[in-house]
Amino acid sequence: MRNYLSFEGLSWLVFVLFVIIVPLFLSSFYLRLMSLIGLYSLVVMGLVLLTGYAGLASLGQAAFMGVGAYTAAILSSRFALNPWLSMIAGILLAVLIAWLIGLITLRLKGHFLALATLAWGLVITGILRNWISVTGGNTGFGSATGNRFPPLSILGYPLRDERLYTYLIWFFVLLVLFLSLNLMRSRMGLAIKALRTGSIAAASFGVNVSQLKMLTFLLAAAFAALAGALFAFKELFIDPKIADLSTSINLLIMAVMGGIGSLTGAIFGPGLFVFLESFLQEYLPWLIGRSGNYEIIAFGFILIFILHRARQGLLPLLRDLLPASPVKPINHQAEPLPKRILDRAEGEVLLRVDDVSKNFGGLRAVDSLSFEVKRGEILGLIGPNGAGKSTMFNLITGVLRLSEGEISFKDSLISKLAPHQIAQRGIARTFQHLNLIGNMSLLDNVVLGGYGRTKANVWQGMLGLEGGERERARAEAHRQLKRVGLAEQSFERADSLALGKQRLVEIARALMADPELILLDEPAAGLRKHEKAELIDLIRKLKAEGITVLLVEHDMELVMTLCERIVVVNYGTKLAEGSPKAIKQNPKVLEAYLGSESASL
Ligand code: ADP
Ligand code: MG
Repeated sequence: MRNYLSFEGLSWLVFVLFVIIVPLFLSSFYLRLMSLIGLYSLVVMGLVLLTGYAGLASLGQAAFMGVGAYTAAILSSRFALNPWLSMIAGILLAVLIAWLIGLITLRLKGHFLALATLAWGLVITGILRNWISVTGGNTGFGSATGNRFPPLSILGYPLRDERLYTYLIWFFVLLVLFLSLNLMRSRMGLAIKALRTGSIAAASFGVNVSQLKMLTFLLAAAFAALAGALFAFKELFIDPKIADLSTSINLLIMAVMGGIGSLTGAIFGPGLFVFLESFLQEYLPWLIGRSGNYEIIAFGFILIFILHRARQGLLPLLRDLLPASPVKPINHQAEPLPKRILDRAEGEVLLRVDDVSKNFGGLRAVDSLSFEVKRGEILGLIGPNGAGKSTMFNLITGVLRLSEGEISFKDSLISKLAPHQIAQRGIARTFQHLNLIGNMSLLDNVVLGGYGRTKANVWQGMLGLEGGERERARAEAHRQLKRVGLAEQSFERADSLALGKQRLVEIARALMADPELILLDEPAAGLRKHEKAELIDLIRKLKAEGITVLLVEHDMELVMTLCERIVVVNYGTKLAEGSPKAIKQNPKVLEAYLGSESASL
């Protein structure tokens, strides 16, 4: 424990001292560069959250800088509002605009989302350029254009001094870095990281995906607007270039240079960019013999190099040279997380699938299928490849909408609920196509599974105030990993494991949610013989603890050993239902499996 604190504390101490001491020795020119680095860092930290962690690309981030800058400038000049309040108003307006944009845009995926943010950015810049009576248009806004606005001041002392202002900017950089680092370690932050890998997985352990995307989008907008307003009060003059597409692209280059998935890289990237830019601006014309914006060509090449050779950015390359930071040990004494009360008696119907169909265009993947799962049983759902089993799982968990029919869980209809709501009612699952976060430890992956059992909100996360709950979740995750035999590897990266073992991690993650019903999609695929035997033991133990299991599996030996009842599907319809013994002898089942690669009964 102490070890961990001292390592992290030390890094902070060194960094803070650096930020305090360095400006004392800088000339006006370098103070300017340092301020610029700070301002860009603020925006890039938002971009890292948004693009690097949540996987939502934004090509319009500079537009939020523009909103922050112009709102602050206009309110403090035209309306003589206190500069600090104007700055807060700028941030709030940016958040409001981001919210409206997000409502319309965040549903889009991949490059559509990136293009939409680009378009919104153009709209905002267009407004700044053309609403001349308010913004001053292309000539800009400031005392030179008759729109004088006052600098920020502290206790009546105006911050005009370049050195002081550099300190102010870097105070905010440190603050935002601290809040963001905390956030990304917190419950919410882990969930944000899960968004990039797969929002379906995230929803399956109770994350409200659209809400979380919006939250990340708003945070990034707020950071950008803060930077914009700080810029406005630094220069006391702004023009629409601050909100331009070219600025947005520069910000993305900085994010990529530092490492799009790294918050410390969000400071390193702008640092490198600003120094390179000033270096290139000075020497390139001398080299080429002409002046002009040639540095953009160099940045193009640097970006191409990074995309080809160092996707993780340049900082992680350096970081590999340093010793890894020690992980925080698990507090095994932590109080257990609250457990669900099982309120259905053994043998009562837990899940009812009632005449359910699912069409994919012309294909009827599930066709009027009905079955029940009773509390405490292990029900097998088997059938040849393409029979509709995984589709059935997706219908139960709300990932897919039903075309017809109803599904109810504990007598209440769930087929109209969102996936995260269904998860929170006590249905957990694993995925046939693995859905772990490869670059995260097993432990953190499993902690994520407990999202719905924990409560810490985004503010608690940012302020580092979820300590107790986080310790409890980690201890619980460790217990779940122990349950599947992987406790020893808790701190290893998920993608370092063989696929079969990763399936076990998925089971641990599902168990972490404290489910009443667990859906296992081919859990034995890729397991060795002794691992299969351990899996059988594990599933039996789960049953003994009162957990109900719905099992899709191709290994017939395993299915026949484990399941009390089996439902056989073929082409989406139910072919047979009964005890393993009856199923083995059912002629229709034998016929369906004959010649199919997946089976020997
Ligand atoms: P199983 O898990 O039993 O092997 P699936 O449920 O994955 O089968 O698939 C059933 C059928 O539905 C297959 O023909 C598959 O190609 C089709 N299918 C599954 N998901 C989709 C989808 N999202 N869009 C279109 N077709 C799909
Ligand atoms: Mg399947």
